[in-house]
Formats: sequence, structure tokens, C-alpha cells
Amino acid sequence: MQPRDLSDHVAYEAGRGIEEVARELGRDPSEFIKLASNENPHGPSPAAAVAIRETASSVSSYPKAAHADLTAAVADRWDVSDEQVWLANGGDGAIDYLHRAALEPGDDVLVPAPGFAYYGMSSRFHHGDVREYELEREDDFAQDAETVLGAYDGDRLLFVTSPHNPTGSTMPLADVERLADETADETLIVVDEAYGEFADRDSAVALIEGRDGFDARDDVAVLRTFSKAYGLAGVRLGYAVVPDEWGDAYARVNTPFAASELACRAGLAAIDDDEHVRRTVETAVESRAYMRENIDAHVWESEGNFVLVDVGDAVAVSEEMQERSVIVRDCSSFGLPGCIRITCGTAEETERAVATLNDVLADLDVAPESTDEAEDPDAEVADP
Ligand SMILES: *Cc1c(COP(=O)(O)O)cnc(C)c1O
Repeated sequence: MQPRDLSDHVAYEAGRGIEEVARELGRDPSEFIKLASNENPHGPSPAAAVAIRETASSVSSYPKAAHADLTAAVADRWDVSDEQVWLANGGDGAIDYLHRAALEPGDDVLVPAPGFAYYGMSSRFHHGDVREYELEREDDFAQDAETVLGAYDGDRLLFVTSPHNPTGSTMPLADVERLADETADETLIVVDEAYGEFADRDSAVALIEGRDGFDARDDVAVLRTFSKAYGLAGVRLGYAVVPDEWGDAYARVNTPFAASELACRAGLAAIDDDEHVRRTVETAVESRAYMRENIDAHVWESEGNFVLVDVGDAVAVSEEMQERSVIVRDCSSFGLPGCIRITCGTAEETERAVATLNDVLADLDVAPESTDEAEDPDAEVADP
């Protein structure tokens, strides 16, 4: 017997880890720095680390109180009702829940290209058909309603990533509102704000709740995660904020106890540690400015904790950087075979990454000439 036909399904390609790379190259892990998965260079909130240690002896129980308490704390943070907060096993788990709650077999889901692979993966798991809208490289991957509406065709779910992974661009809330206005009543706009803390912008929760001059609405949901700014990628914790009308669906679609006791306790400690998030965001803002100023290739403006760099040949450059002990993300799997993504590290890590990249670019001579000019769009259309 075989699994169902999975020929349309693709494996998720994660950024490479230090252990994995060191083992492959037969080297000592301590030689490497990893700036490949948009993780927090300061680690988890120290309060979260303490909470995880203190919870160790009670992990024999299912998480109930901690789940309720964290739901309430997140609801409080956004000033929404508890029912509107869907805790999940990472932001990815929340993406699954929205698909479970919204999709009938054969419904269409519209996702950005380039973009985050898990939207399409989850859509396919839930028997949806995936369609794409292009963010144009010549427009610096600008995100506006026009671009998305041009590709829209009655899709049930429509994903917007703001700030966008891997380009760092954002979509103004007025454009998200226009998207919601000009799509069918039965189209849910999912605004993925996994990197929301790093952008000096308001959350699309304002659209759900009808704040800041927007009308309240039932066709926008927001995704958030503890993986990035809060430094808890390893415990797997994220959530969706959904319209009031969607609240009841959670009990019917969630995987029981998917947000673990350790995750909920860590989240409860982390959500109150504003200082850790403030420091993390400050580091990212400084790092991305430093990379834009000092890398000898085109670096797109980013509002996330990473930058996208046009290096000409992502495979050659990322492999050579890895040889020189700096692990970055080859963006071929995002459909950008000429680009790498570098996560914002500490000042020291950032300087080392920039120096290494500039040396590699000089040695390999692959970066496009006159890097600050408009780039040749044809250079990027090849399949990864
Ligand atoms: C990291 C990320 C997520 C969520 O990641 P989790 O670790 O599952 O919380 C969601 N969307 C984008 C675009 C991301 O980069």
C-alpha cells in the first residue's frame, strides 16, 4: 500500500543548521555562525528559559491551565476576546488551523511568489488548489493591492506576508483593507506578521477590530509567532488572531494540546519580557542598516530581521560562505536562484558575515556588475 498521490507536494527546505554543516564538512561546530533561519541572535528571553526549566518536572500533565492563561495574555496584548486567539504549534500550526477552518476540497488559495513555502504545503494537505501572485523584482517586490487583485480569482484564502519573507517588503494596511474590500465576502485575507515586531508599522489586527479609522470586519486574520522576536523557535509556539465570527471554529479544528506545556509556560514568560524584544528589534535594525551600507552587492530594504542580497549565484556564494564558516540561506527554493538571505545577527556576527560575503564576492566574481542599477529581470526566471 502507498500514501495518497503526493506528487504535487514538496518537502519544506529549512535553513541549514550548524551541527549539520559542521558534520558534513568534518569541522568543529564552534567555528561557524548561522544566519540562515531568522532566529534570534540573543537566544530566548531569559525569563522564558527559566520558565522552561521550572516546568520540566510537571511535563507529565497535559497543558490546560497554561494554555488558557497564555490565550488570555495574548488576547490582552491585542485587546481582543480569548476566542479570537488560536494558539498553535508555531505560526505554521496556525496556518494549518486556518486551512482546516476555511477550505472545502478544491477551493483555491492565493499565495505570494516568491514566498513562504508552508502556505502552499498546508493548502495541499487540506485539498486546496494553490495559485500564486508575483511580487516583481523590478518593483523591489513592492506589495500593493493592485498586484494581488490582478491575480485574484475568487480564492477562499489569500496570504499576505508583511514583512515579507524573504524580501523584507511590507504591505500598507490601507492596501490590505482594499484587498479585503475588493475580494468576495467568502475570501479570508490572512496577514502573516511573523516579522511584525521588526517593522515600525501597525498590525492588521486594527482591521479586524475596526481601530485607527478602519471599519471592523470578519474577513481578515493575522498570524503571529514566538519564533522570531521572542527567540522561541525551538519550542514551537504561534497563533492566529481571528475575527469574532470565527472564534467558535477553533474548538472544532485544533489539534489537542498542540501548544505544549513547555511552549505555553515559555510564552507566558516571554510575552512580559518587553526588554528582550526591544533589544532584539534594536539589534535587527542596526544589523540590516549595516548590511545595506557595507555589502558590495545590491541589498533590498528590509523591515524584517534579515536582508535579501543579489549575489548573482546563490548556490556558489552560499557554499563558499559556508566553507568560510558563515551559514546563510540560499534562496533558490524561494524561486530566487540569484539571491541569498542573511539573518540579522549581533554586531559581531553581522560584521563577520559582511566581511566574508564581500571577500567571497571578490574571489568568485559572480555578483552582477553595477549592483545599485536596476537589475535584469531575465536573470531570475530560471527554475531553482
Ligand atoms: C518563520 C515564519 C513563520 C512561522 O514560523 P513558526 O516557527 O512556525 O512560528 C510564518 N511565516 C513566515 C513568513 C515565517 O518566516
